Amino acid sequence: MTDSTAGGDVRLTGISKTYGSFTAVHPLELTVPQGSFFALLGASGCGKTTTLRMIAGLEEPTTGTVFLGDKDVTDLPPYKRPVNTVFQSYALFPHLDVTENIAFGLRRRGIKSVKKQVDDMLELVQLGDFARRKPHQLSGGQQQRVAVARALINHPQVLLLDEPLGALDLKLRRQMQLELKRIQTEVGITFVHVTHDQEEAMTMADTVAVMNGGRVEQLGAPAELYENPRTTFVANFLGTSNLIEAEVVEAGGEDLVVSAGGAKLRLPGGRCSAPTAGGGKLLVGVRPEKISLAHRDDEDTIAAGRNRVTGRILDSSFIGVSTQYLIDSPAGKGLSVYEQNIERDSRLVPGAEVVLHWNPAHTFGLDADQAID
Ligand code: ATP
Repeated sequence: MTDSTAGGDVRLTGISKTYGSFTAVHPLELTVPQGSFFALLGASGCGKTTTLRMIAGLEEPTTGTVFLGDKDVTDLPPYKRPVNTVFQSYALFPHLDVTENIAFGLRRRGIKSVKKQVDDMLELVQLGDFARRKPHQLSGGQQQRVAVARALINHPQVLLLDEPLGALDLKLRRQMQLELKRIQTEVGITFVHVTHDQEEAMTMADTVAVMNGGRVEQLGAPAELYENPRTTFVANFLGTSNLIEAEVVEAGGEDLVVSAGGAKLRLPGGRCSAPTAGGGKLLVGVRPEKISLAHRDDEDTIAAGRNRVTGRILDSSFIGVSTQYLIDSPAGKGLSVYEQNIERDSRLVPGAEVVLHWNPAHTFGLDADQAID
């Protein structure tokens, strides 16, 4: 293993993988900046593990090149790459205690004095009190930490994590997400993390690549992906989206004006990934928590310049942090609205005639011709 300070970005150029006639990963251009926490996010079967395994050297690409820094490592076997992998199964040695598991990589390289490095790792993953326990005497989260420490002790340039939290219950999973983020920040090594859990990717990663059908559909910071999705898949995979069918009325200005169910809506031109020629169809998106509700009788109180559509409450449910409404509107059936901080008595009841209104800046436009997954 080389030292992590040798560094460099992970670059995949034209990387693809086919199995017989099936393409698991279509030719891919992807750069993972050195020192970043990068997530490959997507549903089961989208090609994220295959991509990770091609970085590790566990899978041979059908086409393309894997660079680590300036070095082409495409033909290097896994053990010659400055990369280590943590699997969901942890793969700890059951007969070795925590210390010996963590020291394993160093011992295999013939290094005798390992105490200082192992102690540093035990401290990093906060397992100092468990050093002499065997894996079966540890919780899932603790085993996970041992697996991470064991993978980091050789100072890899890149740590690959393949659904490493998949076996943990939700509470522990959330705890470990923060823990892994802390560890990554502390060691400064590039982490590439595979997950199907959007919340996990968004909690941990600086950059998320959303994969669908063997392709990266969109890549960006979590907030950017959430607030400005460029495809219906990304809009639906990351949280809940209201997607309203609309038609372009006015294009060319800073804002785009569209009509939906008789209402005129505005959205920033820069947040529209659909063709914007007049009369063209598109889907207008807005997140449920960006929408406010007013009684139809109080419509005059809504500030000018906000997007607004009429609707009728179908259903409401109080879920602690917010009240979630399901609303039918001429602009779209089954729109979702999440409102926070409303008193129990002022909740709107099914049948209430309302106006949904929101800041046009929170509106995005998507290509209506894409299939909605
Ligand atoms: P999961 O979260 O379920 O692991 P994934 O997104 O990581 O899914 P991959 O494991 O990368 O998906 O698999 C991508 C596609 O390639 C899947 O349809 C899978 O069935 C197929 N695939 C993977 N390995 C092989 C193989 N050795 N032979 C044939 N098909 C394969």
